[in-house]
Amino acid sequence: MQIEKIDHLGIAVNSIAEGKSFWTDVLGINIEATETVESQKVITAFLPVGESEVELLESTSPDGPVAKYIEKKGQGIQHVAFKVKDIDAALDELKEKGVKLIDQKPRLGAGGARIAFLHPKATNGVLVELCERN
Ligand code: ZN
Repeated sequence: MQIEKIDHLGIAVNSIAEGKSFWTDVLGINIEATETVESQKVITAFLPVGESEVELLESTSPDGPVAKYIEKKGQGIQHVAFKVKDIDAALDELKEKGVKLIDQKPRLGAGGARIAFLHPKATNGVLVELCERN
């Protein structure tokens, strides 16, 4: 598997409208795009930083994964996403290595990326996302 870079850090916030001010006003990073990902019950806001991005995540529903994360652990870094060249090959390789996955197959994420999550039990507690972008 070829990890190309940290694609983005996913940060769970109660509200993008309130949570963005540190990133935009204090750090001066601009929001490039926002998008609702229905399947994940989140609104995402992408803030590019060099070759990587900060992804703010606001839940659209109390039963969504981001809402559940905040309920358990509070606001903060929810996942780290690595860009890979070929996500299908990467998942096959992980399966061969017996790594526990949340997503057996890639699904569509924000910005048209193909994404898949690894299970935090396989990564010492870090929710890892693989991400393939064209
Ligand atoms: Zn992400």
